[in-house]
Parts: sequence; C-alpha cells; structure tokens
Amino acid sequence: MNNAALQLWVEKISLECFDLPFRHRATFNRRLKATGGRYFMKSHDIEISPYQLETYGAEETEKIIKHELCHYHLHLMRRGYRHRDADFKALLAKVGGSRFCKSLPERAQRKPAPFKFMLKCRACGGEYLRKRKMNPARYACGKCGGKLQLFVLDFKFES
Ligand SMILES: [Zn+2]
Ligand SMILES: [Zn+2]
Repeated sequence: MNNAALQLWVEKISLECFDLPFRHRATFNRRLKATGGRYFMKSHDIEISPYQLETYGAEETEKIIKHELCHYHLHLMRRGYRHRDADFKALLAKVGGSRFCKSLPERAQRKPAPFKFMLKCRACGGEYLRKRKMNPARYACGKCGGKLQLFVLDFKFES
C-alpha cells in the first residue's frame, strides 16, 4: 500500500466512523517503529507506521487510524483530544479505536521466541513444535486424535 491508498483509506474511515471529512494528509513513515501512528497538532497530519500494517494487518491498522482520527477531530473541534481526556476516551470507545498510539508491543520488535517444546502423538508419531509449555492431556493429535506426550527440546529450532 502506498501513501495515496493510505490517504483514501483514512478519508473513508473518517467519513464512515466519524461522519466528518479528513482534510489533511496521511502518510506512511518508515521511521515509526515503536509507534503505530502519530498525529501532528501543528499540521493536523497523520503518520502511520508501515510496520503496523506489515505486522498486524489491516484490521489492527484501522484501529490505529481511528485512534489518530480521534486526536484529529477532537483537536479541530477544540475538545479534549489528549489520551486522558473524557472526550477522547468516549470517542475512542464509540469508534472502536486502538487504546494506544503505541500498538506495536516490544516483543514484536524482538526475534520471535524459539520452539522449546514438542508434543508428540503416541499413536501416529505426529510432532508439533511449541514455544510454550503445554499440558499434553488437554490436547489431542491434530492428525489422528491420539494422545500426546510432551518433550522438552534441549536444542532450539529457530522459527
Ligand atoms: Zn494517541
Ligand atoms: Zn496422531
């Protein structure tokens, strides 16, 4: 998706969810890494992190856009546009925006966790790698429905 498509997307969300037009600029900013989006009070422009879209997809990015549009519209209406303001909280809840500008959790920037466990089917021998410890009694083999046994891997598969 390029900036022109993002602009149209933000304009569409603004009209559909806020009943108000977005009359400024929305652009992707590749330097935004820990932050999903940003609203600029001086220019009234919005920036969205392309990593947000790449990592979390369109649905989560739409929530970030709604969050930034809450800042945008409330600011232009001279109402409470800051995170702690009641107007902001109410509008955000109404449109279903993300609660945080910073929606990219720290862990998304780190390497994915390696597999430390393996569930192995006692019946067919099917193997399932897991990052977290799981109780094998609570799951069944996805291929044959057989009972599973948990192994702790002493070597690590990188995912
Ligand atoms: Zn915010
Ligand atoms: Zn099986």
